[in-house]
Amino acid sequence: ADARRRGEPVRVWTTGMAAVQPWELELQAQLRSAIERDELELHYQPMREAATGRTVGVEALMRWRHPTRGLLPPASFLPMAERSSLIVELTWWELEEALRQCARWRAEGIQVPVSANLSPRLLVIDELPQIVAERLAAHDLPPDILTLEITENALVSQPARAAAMLGDLRVSGVKLSMDDFGTGYNSMEILKALTLDEIKIDRSFVADAHGSLPDVAIVRSVVDLGHRLGLRVVGEGIEDEPSERILTELGCDVLQGYAFSPPLPARDLTPLLTDPKRCGSSAAALAAPPA
Ligand code: C2E
Ligand code: MG
Ligand code: MG
Ligand code: MG
Repeated sequence: ADARRRGEPVRVWTTGMAAVQPWELELQAQLRSAIERDELELHYQPMREAATGRTVGVEALMRWRHPTRGLLPPASFLPMAERSSLIVELTWWELEEALRQCARWRAEGIQVPVSANLSPRLLVIDELPQIVAERLAAHDLPPDILTLEITENALVSQPARAAAMLGDLRVSGVKLSMDDFGTGYNSMEILKALTLDEIKIDRSFVADAHGSLPDVAIVRSVVDLGHRLGLRVVGEGIEDEPSERILTELGCDVLQGYAFSPPLPARDLTPLLTDPKRCGSSAAALAAPPA
């Protein structure tokens, strides 16, 4: 704005946060062609029912197999994509790939629900509910096999519009999960504004739950709050057996973390999903409602 006032040429500004750096433009260009070059991957991390140890879902997490930099985690490219419209294209790819894999598993007799992260940027794309419904139908999948994970900044820009869109998605049968619960400033506002199916307690509370009294109190209260609202409560970032025990004792319905499995390429996860010791393979078991 200052530049414009001074009559200087305006640089490439995005969402008013920062100017785009040259390295970012290069990475952006590479990311744009990553889709067509088939460099993006989804890895899947199992979500495990605390009471039974069954896998009740998998979360799809994006990776970029960069030609020179190796396998990149989402933190190294998604924020940049979110500052441009690239995130929209990436999300269509992500949803399509997650649904395709879900259908592939079903064809192999594995009825596993899939969770996909949804960038808040998608909540201003009016066709989102329609496209999601269309792609589910194209893969012959029931809508409730898909959970969309949103974060607490989902309602930051255009809250009414975003809430209406999420309402439409849920009416269509897709499930909604609030990710990283407790890390934003408006957790309670979101619980009031949206009808959800699940909350995922952020791993920052989980990691310290054995040592720290505040974290235990917070987790216990969030579990209680979630259950009072009829939601399934997931504990994220369970790295070891003590965390598993504590989060189970505190009443989390579902646990997710390195203690059970890191996110894996689908082909590496499939054997774990068909192992009867690790996974209830009946559709009824996987579709079990929250406790
Ligand atoms: P998230 O949705 O909260 O996903 C959980 C993150 O925690 C993942 O990081 C996962 O690999 C990591 N994690 C899982 N278990 C453990 C554990 O026991 N300990 C620790 N320390 N970490 C654990 P990842 O894959 O790097 O993803 C980071 C974030 O990027 C995700 O956080 C999500 O917000 C975003 N993201 C990932 N994939 C996508 C995508 O396809 N679309 C969008 N919009 N966002 C995505
Ligand atoms: Mg998530
Ligand atoms: Mg999370
Ligand atoms: Mg996160």
